Amino acid sequence: MKITQTPSPNFDERTLPISLLILHYTGMETGQAALTRMCDAEAKVSAHYMIEEDGQIFQLVEEDKRAWHAGVSEWQGETNINSNSIGIEIVNGGHDWPQEDGTLPPFADVQINAVIALSKDIMSRHGELTVLGHSDIAPMRKIDPGEHFPWAGLAAAGLGFWPDAAAEDRRILFEPGTRDRGVAILQSGLAHIGYGARVSGIMDEGSVKIIEALQRRYRPSQIDGIVDIHTMEIVKALISHMTPPAV
Ligand SMILES: [Zn+2]
Repeated sequence: MKITQTPSPNFDERTLPISLLILHYTGMETGQAALTRMCDAEAKVSAHYMIEEDGQIFQLVEEDKRAWHAGVSEWQGETNINSNSIGIEIVNGGHDWPQEDGTLPPFADVQINAVIALSKDIMSRHGELTVLGHSDIAPMRKIDPGEHFPWAGLAAAGLGFWPDAAAEDRRILFEPGTRDRGVAILQSGLAHIGYGARVSGIMDEGSVKIIEALQRRYRPSQIDGIVDIHTMEIVKALISHMTPPAV
């Protein structure tokens, strides 16, 4: 695998072992603009790797160092995500640089193949890592890598889990503002999966944003923060996937 070294000054020391792989889109006009920014000491941002639209891979920070890509974020109760993750920036204009027709720019197969190859290469060194989007760990602030990112394809390649929630049932269970004991159970489930959910029994703003993040990743056809049966099936499938079988 050919990797071009473009060292960034924006890193410090890890204080935690590596357990997560965080995927981002750059959300800038060009990959070069993103690379320049991540190598600028003033910007104070970086990632370990950046993958261009043509599949070219750049390394900015050594894997044993702490790159600065996550910002304020949380997963499984840990908030120092920069310390326990490896960050990959994927060049894509995203929501800020849409196509002429206003839709999100697609990810080319050659680029996604590079994401898959690099991720597997990283895991050959660190063991299996939990693969997350920036939106999963910072649902209040971030929507990258976006609803066009091919999570199902990654899962088919062995990276991350894709829930086989058959039911496209859109009957509504909880809307924003709903107060219900069932909401508390849902929030516990979201926290169990890893999301930074608080158990309040109310579909508060934080919970709505987490549901949007979950839909953006697992049900990109409808991202509305409303908990319908299909959304609940996805939550159930994720919990089931991470729980060992009964003996
Ligand atoms: Zn990001």
